[in-house]
Amino acid sequence: MTVTLDFGSQKDLSTRRALSDLSLSVAKCKKIVVVTGAGISCSSGIPDFRSSDGLYALVKEKYPDVVLKGRDLFDASLFRDQTSTAVFYTFIAQLKQSIDAATPGPTHHFLQLLDSKKKLLRSYTQNIDGFEARAGLLGSASHEAKSNGKGKSKIRTKEVRNVQLHGDIHRVRCRSCSAEYPCTKEHISMFVEGLAPECPECLQRAEARIARSARTIKVGSLRPAIVLYDEPHPLGDDIGTIQSADLARNPDMLIIMGTSLKVHGLKKLVKEFAKTVHSGAPSSPSKAKKWSGKVVFVNRTPPAAEWAGIIDYHVVGETDAWVEKVTEDWKKMRPSDFEVQQTLVATDGDVSMNGNFKVVAATKTKAKDAKKKPRKDEENVPPLPTDMVLSTPDVSSLTVKTVSTPPLSPSKRRQTNSHYSADSSPSKRRTLPSMKKGLKDLDRGLLFTKAAGVADMDLYDNMNDLSMQSPPKVKPPKAGRAVRVAAF
Ligand SMILES: [Zn+2]
Repeated sequence: MTVTLDFGSQKDLSTRRALSDLSLSVAKCKKIVVVTGAGISCSSGIPDFRSSDGLYALVKEKYPDVVLKGRDLFDASLFRDQTSTAVFYTFIAQLKQSIDAATPGPTHHFLQLLDSKKKLLRSYTQNIDGFEARAGLLGSASHEAKSNGKGKSKIRTKEVRNVQLHGDIHRVRCRSCSAEYPCTKEHISMFVEGLAPECPECLQRAEARIARSARTIKVGSLRPAIVLYDEPHPLGDDIGTIQSADLARNPDMLIIMGTSLKVHGLKKLVKEFAKTVHSGAPSSPSKAKKWSGKVVFVNRTPPAAEWAGIIDYHVVGETDAWVEKVTEDWKKMRPSDFEVQQTLVATDGDVSMNGNFKVVAATKTKAKDAKKKPRKDEENVPPLPTDMVLSTPDVSSLTVKTVSTPPLSPSKRRQTNSHYSADSSPSKRRTLPSMKKGLKDLDRGLLFTKAAGVADMDLYDNMNDLSMQSPPKVKPPKAGRAVRVAAF
């Protein structure tokens, strides 16, 4: 039985209690799997794909005679026709531009918070907007996730925090040789016109062949690296490997947010995780660890009947509102999780992607440089903040010293002001702040591709809904959908 919790009716005592229990679960669990869809990007201002005055209207303006919408716009068969290919490129270019202009929302930041507190086993998303990366989670489609930086290489399972089930709108891939690149402004300016850029890798190879008078080869074109219907996921095997690894680690909580769970491939993934999570649940509520083993579904609309017995709780409402409540409760329930947040860990040795080690190192360098070449704004550089924090449990003295540090960005300053919690255990001390890695936007761009992304299977679902109104198609949407997602 799924317990329905209406987020809007918290006056009800049992609802309030149940919501509080869920917050406790988040605060206590250590291996949480999160599955997300379009709903988590709503508050980021991504245009509603269904609305007639949205992106469709813009596409329609450019291609007034083309009757192509809904699912057809995201079906691999679109490449068979030049016009539909052009419409697809234009649509994606406009979508990417709106995504670039938007910012990650509270739910994306919550995912990053879970990760920084070592609670996130993995995030799986249907979204292509890449907002998770912008919030600080390394995505499976990113350049950094590849073991040797090449398109076809294995991905670094451990480092990947967010699995992008449907690719990434901020990447492009060669239709011929599969080489991958970040999607640049130049690419977008061509896509907007319905044109495709040539693949640099293919070009290079072709030129090399011409140089040695060999028979020339076809140069492939670049396309958005999102996964279409009836198209295998280029990283399908890697995603399968990650999923198996996560199942084997016995996740203790499953949170599903902002997706209507209509897509076959995603249903399968969710069911497998739910089964594992439930197998670790306590046999009776009075047993120890009673907070573990829950499957939570946060969405505006209820889950279909088939989810009874799989989903334990349906929180009715916006994901942003729920994650904000959870975070608030969690801070009250386990304040120590947040008190030690800013402890610096440079000597720990166990420095993770999410740590502030890079920031510390950067501060250090800055301090050293300042010593060599004192600049007006960097004079009187205090001892390295790192050493200071680790050797000075005295908060007040630390605060005084920090005041004289060179001007730092707000995010860095927050770290420097951290205090050392003398009674925290070494494991707690390892807890790292979120900080979005403290990298400058430029560095982040390199790490995670240009930005991060919003289409999701929900998007595709929406497309389906929409396509119902369009002229009859040769292929029934259902079948195509099933085939498509069977790829991973
Ligand atoms: Zn190529």
